[in-house]
Amino acid sequence: MDFDTPLFDTALAEAWIRSIAAAVEKEQDRLTELDSAIGDGDHGSNLRRGFDAALAALDGLQPAGPGAVLTRTGTTLISKVGGASGPLYGKAFRALGAALPEPAGPVALAEAMAAGLDAVRILGKAEPGDKTIVDAWTPAVAALRTAAATGATLPEAAAAAADAAEQGARDTVPLRARKGRASYLGERSTGHQDPGATSTALLFRTLADVTGNR
Ligand code: ADP
Ligand code: MG
Repeated sequence: MDFDTPLFDTALAEAWIRSIAAAVEKEQDRLTELDSAIGDGDHGSNLRRGFDAALAALDGLQPAGPGAVLTRTGTTLISKVGGASGPLYGKAFRALGAALPEPAGPVALAEAMAAGLDAVRILGKAEPGDKTIVDAWTPAVAALRTAAATGATLPEAAAAAADAAEQGARDTVPLRARKGRASYLGERSTGHQDPGATSTALLFRTLADVTGNR
């Protein structure tokens, strides 16, 4: 056992939320552009508002473990984001927080992320291939599970998940949307990357960044 291997603890959970907020600020225009093509152009501002509020909520929190940080983030997203992505990401973070032991290694993190995905699927009823958040989150969970099962460290597992989520987001380009606003466009939703799958890839990339920097 490598005693220097980082685990997902409270400090890492807080660092993750801070890193997401910074990434959303940086990528806000791109997310908005993607949502302008096949939605209503608010995905960037929705997430900006949500994660800025999540950051502010962390400042007043005396967290009882990493799960509490993520649960609070989920509750904040649900209350602050009006678009479809608010309740979906909100439920995901709440489920993730509820499922996360303290501190978590790769196996526990993979199962907690799977619980987050289940929450998205229960609320949004999207299947893989429907051109949604699910298309990035599903391969990320699969990659986390594979990495965890083969004894990867947390940074290695998180990096594999980020690569898989980014590939999943790119793979939404040719898909026709079957859920959410983009589905109203029918065939015209093809040829564009899904904004929600893109922001999910950001979530997993920032997770890889913060775990790798410990
Ligand atoms: P809105 O569509 O209400 O404007 P956003 O623009 O913030 O909300 O988020 C749009 C994203 O939400 C889409 O790109 C898609 O990935 C995701 N989404 C929409 N509906 C669903 C659903 N039923 N299941 C999973 N993800 C969904
Ligand atoms: Mg939108």
